Amino acid sequence: MPNCMRSRHVVAGQVQGVGFRPYIYRLARELGLAGWVQNTPAGVVIEVEGAPEALMAFARRLPVELPPLARLLSQSTATIPATGETGFGIVPSAPGTGHAVLISPDTATCPDCLADMADPAGRRHRYPFTNCTNCGPRYTITRRVPYDRETTSMACFPLCPACAAEYNDPGDRRFHAQPNACAACGPAWWLADRQGTVLARGDAAIQALAQALAQGQLAAVKGLGGFHLVCDAGDDAAVALLRRRKHRPTKALAVMVADLAVAERLGQVDAAARDLLAGAVRPICLLPLRPGSGLAASIAPDVAEIGVMLPYTPLHHLLLADFAAAVGPGRLPALVMTSGNLGGDPICLGNREALARLGGIADVFLLHTRDILVRTDDSVVRPLNASEAAAAGTSAMFLRRARGYVPSPVALARSGPAVVGLGPMLKATICLTKGDQAFVSQHIGDLESLSAMQFYRETLDHLLGVLGVSPQLCVADLHPDYPSTHYALEQDRWPVVRLQHHVAHIHAVLAEHRITQPVLGLALDGTGLGEDGTLWGGECLLVDPSALTHKRLAHIAPMALPGGDAAVREPWRIAQACHFTLGRQLGDGLPWPWLPAHAGAARVVEQMLQKNINCPVTTSCGRLFDAVAAALGLCLTIEYEGQAAIRLERIQDVSETRPYACPVVGAGEPAVLDTLTLYDQVASDAARGVPPGCVSRRFHLGLVEGLADLAQAMARRAGIRHVALSGGVLQNRTLAVALPAALQRRGLQALVHRRLPSNDGCISLGQAAFGSMLAR
Ligand SMILES: [Zn+2]
Ligand SMILES: [Zn+2]
Repeated sequence: MPNCMRSRHVVAGQVQGVGFRPYIYRLARELGLAGWVQNTPAGVVIEVEGAPEALMAFARRLPVELPPLARLLSQSTATIPATGETGFGIVPSAPGTGHAVLISPDTATCPDCLADMADPAGRRHRYPFTNCTNCGPRYTITRRVPYDRETTSMACFPLCPACAAEYNDPGDRRFHAQPNACAACGPAWWLADRQGTVLARGDAAIQALAQALAQGQLAAVKGLGGFHLVCDAGDDAAVALLRRRKHRPTKALAVMVADLAVAERLGQVDAAARDLLAGAVRPICLLPLRPGSGLAASIAPDVAEIGVMLPYTPLHHLLLADFAAAVGPGRLPALVMTSGNLGGDPICLGNREALARLGGIADVFLLHTRDILVRTDDSVVRPLNASEAAAAGTSAMFLRRARGYVPSPVALARSGPAVVGLGPMLKATICLTKGDQAFVSQHIGDLESLSAMQFYRETLDHLLGVLGVSPQLCVADLHPDYPSTHYALEQDRWPVVRLQHHVAHIHAVLAEHRITQPVLGLALDGTGLGEDGTLWGGECLLVDPSALTHKRLAHIAPMALPGGDAAVREPWRIAQACHFTLGRQLGDGLPWPWLPAHAGAARVVEQMLQKNINCPVTTSCGRLFDAVAAALGLCLTIEYEGQAAIRLERIQDVSETRPYACPVVGAGEPAVLDTLTLYDQVASDAARGVPPGCVSRRFHLGLVEGLADLAQAMARRAGIRHVALSGGVLQNRTLAVALPAALQRRGLQALVHRRLPSNDGCISLGQAAFGSMLAR
């Protein structure tokens, strides 16, 4: 061919197991180009030859017409001598252990696969493991890279001739779909009782499961990243039984429904919520609850939100359809789907493990033979409506980042040596960097048991394996007693750097925004060990992510925690400590809400406060919410982290517009935001009988204005406009929306989390971003 040219492209990213090579094959053939495409350790290599304009069209279209699951992280192009090659081919993968290729997150069943399952004449009619290159399991079934059938839990299922033909045909939707399977060759599934005795197999198993659920039984269902505990969400008795057996009296439970129409019966579904609910990830979405939805009242007693998700595996689609048929049109077709674990343990993975650990909870078990290799919980996201999103600076707030988002990386501002952030103690994650990419693990949970630490180590080893990096150092929390800190200090693979908890929070926001200049940070959080030995958590920090310096400019008013951890579990102790500091004495005749139930303990606490015995000091904003909730009698002792703040937020009377005063005091450094004065107004109004909803609203508004005033004063002093917001307290919807807006009114720009939770799930990212910069 005259005037023929040839070019070579090397692309890296999420380009294996996502239909990338067939895509290149079709694009090259459509443009009449010769050449080949190949998976190699460095990424996917493509050589194309033909007319210059066709080569240009190829280069232009390649990154913009990608298959749904493909993501490019880098692409290099070079012109090379033409060879006169004719035809285009996919050449076999080059051997080697390269790691330029990312595994895709797990992805919800695509419409084409649902159509296959709905076709009574098709080979995959009602087959619960149907998938293709555009959908299905990935991360949870992958042992290591390169991503090939042999390195997944599908290795033990040889393809039947029909599936093999699809797998080997570049024109087929299942070309190189590693989890490809059908009823003839793929995983088997069955229903068992708690002894493991088979009750039904195959299609009959799912119908029998639906019947059992409709009759009020509890089930354990093996899913994508672990087991779910499942029951009829409209059946009060079944939900109460699940709560009793799972030892989870009040914390909200998530539900699964078949489609958007049912979701809209349960909660308010705005545009952002619709996209998240019905998209390819399908997290649990927290929706404002619609009254009279027909859900059991005990599903979410503390909150005005309901966690809803749509089916994301073929098995879920079949189960929801069969359940709707079993209950008939008169009842709500919704199922409680909560992590299959007991207390704070990690989610169950294996069939035998589930029978052993969940045998005391579930009546029946839906089991199958496809192993889950990587424990991954459902992600939890709160979509915001349009006006909230405009104020908050994000369309959705992450509460838990796991299935469907992991292992997608966060792009850092600068490239650096590989490092690992080892996370905190609660809501732990791990983060590994590679070049300018930061890979945050799935939510691991609270590191409070041996099984949780086992999961922690598994996750770290898996992430190291799939990324193929050798970290230069690790970053751990300043707190010496966190199990993650113990891990850091006991291992001898990497040098250890320690980073203060709330400084890590701010680094995490900066990493998401790729900010390299100094900013102001407001860390509004539970307690974390501070650099002065007290417990921080309501901090205004000046953080320079390039110089890696920080300074504590201000904090909220210190409070005592009588009994230390006991005060975290019993917020009334903190309320009494605030009362004490304000000169309110036990026996002042005012109606302290905790006295009826805790009179004896309150006298002991009074003595502890007078003698300053076992009363560690904290500036935690989370503990301030606890104290206020207790002062209003809303929550004297907690069952789960954040419960008091959740109740306090819920009761707000939003018609109230007058904030309590919350002044900045002290010209020195650190300055103090006088939240004790804020608390004093709460206590006085509560004693006067002002309705709690009104008090709660004035408290929220006062805190927002106080924090914004503080930021304004400190920003002026430091000559800075950007204010990074992080910490668990920002999971409070009111604060997350109102605080950025209040900063904006003062000419400041808020930086908020968009891809990670503001709670401690983001700590490992902040640690890793800091470490990567330090190791440069
Ligand atoms: Zn599909
Ligand atoms: Zn097959």
